[in-house]
Amino acid sequence: MSDEHSTRRILIVEDEPKLANLVGDYLKAASFETQIVDDGRDVIDAVKAQMPDLILLDLMLPGRDGFDICRELRSFSEVPIVMMTARVEEIDRLVGLELGADDYICKPFSPREVVARVKAILRRTQRSATSPASESTEAVAPTGLQIDEARYTASFGGKPLDLTPVEFRLLKTLAAAPGRVFSRDRLLDNLYTDHRVVTDRTVDSHIKNLRRKLDQASPDQELIRSIYGVGYKLEL
Ligand code: CA
Repeated sequence: MSDEHSTRRILIVEDEPKLANLVGDYLKAASFETQIVDDGRDVIDAVKAQMPDLILLDLMLPGRDGFDICRELRSFSEVPIVMMTARVEEIDRLVGLELGADDYICKPFSPREVVARVKAILRRTQRSATSPASESTEAVAPTGLQIDEARYTASFGGKPLDLTPVEFRLLKTLAAAPGRVFSRDRLLDNLYTDHRVVTDRTVDSHIKNLRRKLDQASPDQELIRSIYGVGYKLEL
């Protein structure tokens, strides 16, 4: 049939053999091809040799840590990267560093969750890679989110969203990288042009209002997802 059904290769970078094999088994059961690398120093070579469709990248590895690896990968590849870490605080740091990872999974995780996440990311990246190459200068996402930076307005599916300036900036930040998780701190940095003192709660309440407005324009989709203990992302 189409390319959609060709086997996808997942590179699992994980130094705990039991965990690596468990995730590998679930991915194989879901018809993925898998390869396991257990040393941080071998990842770049493995990626160049295997050209995986997605990388599951553990943060704490012998030889070289995941931060460093992710940074180097992004210097030559757009392959989707899902970081795996044992600590929520590390995720917050990862998001803050903006290493270019596509998603983050916190250990302990269920292998089923990993498979679901891998599928969702591949669907998303495939869609953006195969979407028609229109050279429009307007920021038009595939689902019909339109952001007009000059007018400070946005619409969804043709329906105008009546946003405050803060909500507009929030949406613009999230929409710049759909699927990427933004920490509250990161979002706060983009909310106000002056340096007023605000709290995490402020972000939450603006997100709540933004969600309500997006929901009115598109009742069937949950566009903004909250990631417990980390922040928010926009799913298009
Ligand atoms: Ca590890």
